[in-house]
Amino acid sequence: MRVVITGGAGFVGSHLVERYLRDGHEVVAIDNLCTGSLRNLDDASENPRLTFVRADAAMPLPVRGQVDLVLHFSSPASLVDYTRLALETLAVNSAGTGHACDLAERHGARLLFASTSEVYGDPHVHPQPESYWGNVNPVGERACYDEAKRFGEALITTRMRKGPLDARIVRIFNTYGPRMAENDGRAVPNFFAQALAGKPLTVYGDGNQTRSFTYVDDLVEGIVRLAAHPEARGAIVNIGNPEETTIAAAAAIIAEAAGVAFHVEHRPLPPDDPARRKPDIARARALLGWEPATPLREGITRTLAWWRSARGYST
Ligand code: NAD
Ligand code: UDP
Repeated sequence: MRVVITGGAGFVGSHLVERYLRDGHEVVAIDNLCTGSLRNLDDASENPRLTFVRADAAMPLPVRGQVDLVLHFSSPASLVDYTRLALETLAVNSAGTGHACDLAERHGARLLFASTSEVYGDPHVHPQPESYWGNVNPVGERACYDEAKRFGEALITTRMRKGPLDARIVRIFNTYGPRMAENDGRAVPNFFAQALAGKPLTVYGDGNQTRSFTYVDDLVEGIVRLAAHPEARGAIVNIGNPEETTIAAAAAIIAEAAGVAFHVEHRPLPPDDPARRKPDIARARALLGWEPATPLREGITRTLAWWRSARGYST
């Protein structure tokens, strides 16, 4: 199979690149490196089945030759990144998703779109099943991301109603692991960087807001299964770990794993920060036989080991 992965030099994208290479496929990774890094592809770069193309995925995708699967994963993904790159985020998830659809349709390839638990906004339904329409502020600071992903979903489902496109949508819940950018402002990398530097951990608000953190290998397994399923045209599937934790508890787990005292510096909660988030994964279980295999503490320990060896922290 020849797999095109937009956002292939990003955190999740680079793990997908490695997985498809390991499974024996050819991979074309497209990335403009706005939040990703070629360092994320260091381990894969010698593989002759990998082609890297530096390009903007909001534009028509410059891919020639056979295409069997398109994974559209290019998008800034953290509050800090998508606030800085707000218009680019809107473009890559709207026009860019259209170009990903065009490429897939032209080649009779499947498309898998990286959507997000942010489509549920600050949810009134808990845990969140795929049938929930969400509670999103369409004009707030997060809208450039949340609404762009919702538009991407609307575009894909509309194109499937009007044409032969075979697409699947994965709604990804907060995922962490090796290669998360150190400076993208998300909770897990912030807490790692702060703990390892012996600084207080910055908890926004009272820290009682919850998230459900998924280890990246578990996410990749779910994505590969959804993409490969022979009868999942049009499927929309939550992939996330139903192990819900408060942000204060996640910070404490990271401090404990790093072997440092747990000191907190409280900062204001960003606007529209969702109060609770936990996936209902009944559909992933039934359709894909998938559920996460990595408990939070274990994933944190693995990520910490990588952080120390790859990023040179001695603490
Ligand atoms: P990331 O920032 O590490 O990766 C995104 C990659 O896309 C980067 O390499 C970046 O350079 C590239 N990119 C962005 N805009 C581009 C453009 N216009 N053209 C070409 N390349 C571009 O973020 P991530 O966490 O790996 O997220 C990957 C995807 O998964 C995103 O679509 C994101 O919305 C989705 N997602 C991630 C999470 C998570 O917890 N990690 C949760 C929900 C959804
Ligand atoms: N957060 C925090 N301290 C940080 C970074 C984030 O308390 O240094 C909080 C943030 O307000 C949110 C949660 O942690 O409630 C998860 O934030 P992240 O940006 O990782 O993901 P998202 O908000 O997109 O789910």
